[in-house]
Amino acid sequence: TEDPSIRWDKAPCRFCGTGCSVLVGTKEGRVVATQGDPDAPVNKGLNCIKGYFLSKIMYGKDRLTKPLLRMRNGQFDKNGEFTPISWDQAFDIMASKWKEALKKKGPTAVGMFGSGQWTVWEGYAGVKLCKAGFRSNNIDPNARHCMASAVTGFMRTFGSDEPMGCYDDLEYADAFVLWGANMSEMHPILWSRLTDRRLTASHVKVAVLSTFENRCFELADVKLVMKPQSDLAILNYIANYIIQNGKVNEAFVKKSVNFKRGVTDIGYGLRPNDPREQKAKNAAKANDAEPMKFEEYKAFVAEYTLDKTHQISGVPKEQLVALAKLYADPKIKVVSYWTMGFNQHSRGTWANNLVYNIHLLTGKISQPGNGPFSLTGQPSACGTAREVGTFAHRLPADLVVNKPEHRAVAEAIWKLPEGTIPDKPGFHAVLMQRKLRDKEMNCYWQLCNNNMQAGPNINNEMYPGWRDPENFIVVSDPYPTVSGMAADLILPTSMWVEKEGAYGNAERRTQFWRQQVKAPGESQSDLWQMVEFSKRFKVEEVWPAELIAKKPEYKGKTLYDVLFANGQVNKYPKQVVKDLANIPYDNSEMDHFGYYLQKGLFEEYRRFSLEGPKKGHELGEFDQYHKARGLRWPVIGGKETLWRYREGYDPHVKAGEGVVFYGNPDGKANIFALPYEPPAEIPDKEYDLWLSTGRVLEHWHSGSMTQRVPELHRAVPNAVVFMNQTDAEKRGLRRGMTAKLTTRRGEILATVETKGRNKMPEGLIFIPFFDESRLVNKLTLDATCPISKETDFKKCAVKVSKA
Ligand code: SF4
Repeated sequence: TEDPSIRWDKAPCRFCGTGCSVLVGTKEGRVVATQGDPDAPVNKGLNCIKGYFLSKIMYGKDRLTKPLLRMRNGQFDKNGEFTPISWDQAFDIMASKWKEALKKKGPTAVGMFGSGQWTVWEGYAGVKLCKAGFRSNNIDPNARHCMASAVTGFMRTFGSDEPMGCYDDLEYADAFVLWGANMSEMHPILWSRLTDRRLTASHVKVAVLSTFENRCFELADVKLVMKPQSDLAILNYIANYIIQNGKVNEAFVKKSVNFKRGVTDIGYGLRPNDPREQKAKNAAKANDAEPMKFEEYKAFVAEYTLDKTHQISGVPKEQLVALAKLYADPKIKVVSYWTMGFNQHSRGTWANNLVYNIHLLTGKISQPGNGPFSLTGQPSACGTAREVGTFAHRLPADLVVNKPEHRAVAEAIWKLPEGTIPDKPGFHAVLMQRKLRDKEMNCYWQLCNNNMQAGPNINNEMYPGWRDPENFIVVSDPYPTVSGMAADLILPTSMWVEKEGAYGNAERRTQFWRQQVKAPGESQSDLWQMVEFSKRFKVEEVWPAELIAKKPEYKGKTLYDVLFANGQVNKYPKQVVKDLANIPYDNSEMDHFGYYLQKGLFEEYRRFSLEGPKKGHELGEFDQYHKARGLRWPVIGGKETLWRYREGYDPHVKAGEGVVFYGNPDGKANIFALPYEPPAEIPDKEYDLWLSTGRVLEHWHSGSMTQRVPELHRAVPNAVVFMNQTDAEKRGLRRGMTAKLTTRRGEILATVETKGRNKMPEGLIFIPFFDESRLVNKLTLDATCPISKETDFKKCAVKVSKA
């Protein structure tokens, strides 16, 4: 900070859902340094190694600077070479393909795949363009692969998405329980805060559950290595323990809880012709439940005895009891954390519901140091994917497309003719790939993610659809990724502080940043790309005549006129916001639009939180966020909310009301009776090991940014397969040798690692997905939770042999 020629300004980190704030140093139009923001409440000046090297993510040598189209002899050719073209040419071919598909097959023939790394207004613009402009609900975010089970879990139990607590819980809790969350690598700054609490308060306990020993086990007081999927049984055992030992908080339960019996035997979200789906009796009714009495619930969980749970989970009995005691003891304040171990689960919604059960039975919820907390993977999985509603079934602020009254709210705020938004949920992430492969969807635009590397079952369910001559695939990305290489058109994209943005982190904190440098070459933000694309469509080309007849003033207008220049979005003039050093910032992106589009979109979006039927999502004014280091919603009267649903903290709960779960009409939360059910695929004689996939500290998701940072690449250049030494020896393998990993869907090669950061039990291997030279998702199964449609990347059957 001492070099006066460097200009410093604030921004959230580009990577994980922790939402650390950094100071960004720019000089001569380039980001030259970053540092943890000492005034940031989330990270208090700290960064993890990814955050430390943020300044280098934009400057990889192969950064894209022009649109690239597969061409031969000057024409688009599906098998041609990538050739630089102008933005006009890019939008021409895109528009012609989109119009052809819409004409032939209607709105469901086109779709978009967005991101929990999109800025808030990019997600919002994507929803408007797809759901209102093209009248297709086929837009889904990559958060479907990461947070969808948390969303459906929250909605089923509380009627309102996202955690009730916040990171301040880290300094209040007496015990932390990690359910399938390797915080030490995936949320390192939160892990530092948790470690600080554990090491400075001697009574504090940490329990870690996982299918293998990760780095969190080093700090753990209670260590539980469980068999895959057995978390369902353990959660029911804890509920049983609480009841059997008279530890139910009866007054709380009586006032604030309903009991429901969930539908079981709901399948695995595979293709309907898969034998596993044909055997499922209740797939169509997966989300249903019926009321039950406490006594019936008590009888239901009574089956999960210590013996039975030990048998299912493989966890020693004394460890199970030690874990249950943390929850049952009324004097211990407990926070439960989870991430992909729960969410990427063929019963992911259930796992979320079951952990709420425990907090609700004991009343340990919605107060400092007590509560269930779902950690997000991506920087704006909450702020963009969830709150803006980029999921195929959602609209902003917890509204959904299949409720007429919700569509009416959106149509009124968006000034659309009644009936514009279709009433059926669109294709979710996995279904979009199946529809492409089946040629039912023909145009697909992927922005801000790398699904050809990160999505499941690439060989069979993804790649064939992308390369089908009837389909046209567009990928917007700053770099040539695996996805880009499988597409027909690549659009060069601005990233992070090359545009103005807003992210919402896991604790409901919305953070803004300013554009600080120009993007290289002809790169443009996803927002610009969507807005420009909308100019290519006259409403007559995409909407039926009867719809336009309801708004005759829209005749002859473009989708741009209707969606992005409708009198309220384009009403804010350009405005220079000073940075921390009081220096005007580079607002070249704003110059493109001619008005303050980001502000117009945010203020329009904010109306959903103020005027929509779902209370509790209120956002502050646009300008307020540029001045603050983030605010946690609901923001009412300019003030943020730390703990939702409890009087004294949440302004929606009046004095004397205690706790009100106002997302549900009766103000109560739901406890669900849900059983242990086995996963979709279990090891057998031939495919005799479990395969689990995931991430590493040093790389962000598919590695497209962090692999281009020399220091991070050198730290972990390739993905290795972690396996137990005995398993390796049985197959003639040793540490450092190359193994062949084969599943029913594909095979890859990887170097064996029997030591290092993960200690594997016999029977299970783990390999991360960041390495594009080893496409782990050739192996994975596209089974999903039938309620959330989130993929289970944590379990399938694999065989390992010498390469
Ligand atoms: Fe960025 Fe997450 Fe690391 Fe914080 S913990 S610096 S948000 S990657």
